[in-house]
Amino acid sequence: MTDYPGQRERMVRRQIAGRGVRSPKVLEAMRKVPRERFLPQGQGVRAYDDAPLPIGDGQTISQPYIVAYMTEALALEGGEKVLEIGTGSGYAAAVLAEIAAEVYTIERIEALATMASTVLDDLGYANVHVRHADGTLGWPEQAPFDGIVVTAGGPDVPDALQYQLKIGGRLVIPVGKTTWYQQLVRVTRIGEAEFRTEDLLPVRFVPLIGEEGWAS
Ligand code: SAM
Repeated sequence: MTDYPGQRERMVRRQIAGRGVRSPKVLEAMRKVPRERFLPQGQGVRAYDDAPLPIGDGQTISQPYIVAYMTEALALEGGEKVLEIGTGSGYAAAVLAEIAAEVYTIERIEALATMASTVLDDLGYANVHVRHADGTLGWPEQAPFDGIVVTAGGPDVPDALQYQLKIGGRLVIPVGKTTWYQQLVRVTRIGEAEFRTEDLLPVRFVPLIGEEGWAS
């Protein structure tokens, strides 16, 4: 039998803490979430590879380090309301749900939204709410959010998302002028119409497709 807990612990030590993620809450969340459950049937054995993996429909579950890094960049302390764009497998939503009070997550591919919702329900993540829609427009009925994380790369920071942040809230998003290479940036809302942007890391994400993203 595969020793998933052992693999998970090694993943956290080598790939996550070993690369500089320090937040105890993020490390604890990464230790808890069974990543193997978010992969397609038969693919669980690769769950703790240091890489993104295919989840169907041309999409991927992000590399564990990137999930941890983006979660840490939100600087959550516990108890927040968070929005994720790009549910994919549901794995990053589960990691966020270990720290935040409520996680709202949007996926544009219906089959993925349905699968993620099923796994999250099976694992008992009652604080994750999955919606099938264009996430570039955010989730206005649930706004404002303490944190927003986008797990697909867009040409620009969507206005709708910036304005769904609380004052002081943070948005972490890959932005780039081509569809496959981006810069991960963190946007902090510092006033009603004032935002501070920081460059974090060069990254490669699947494209963010939608009204305030790339055309499909
Ligand atoms: N967070 C995911 C996980 O833990 O498995 C990884 C997501 S994958 C890298 C990016 C996802 O963003 C894909 O499933 C893709 O369909 C989705 N996506 C792209 N554009 C979107 C949009 N406008 N709204 C919602 N989801 C979108």
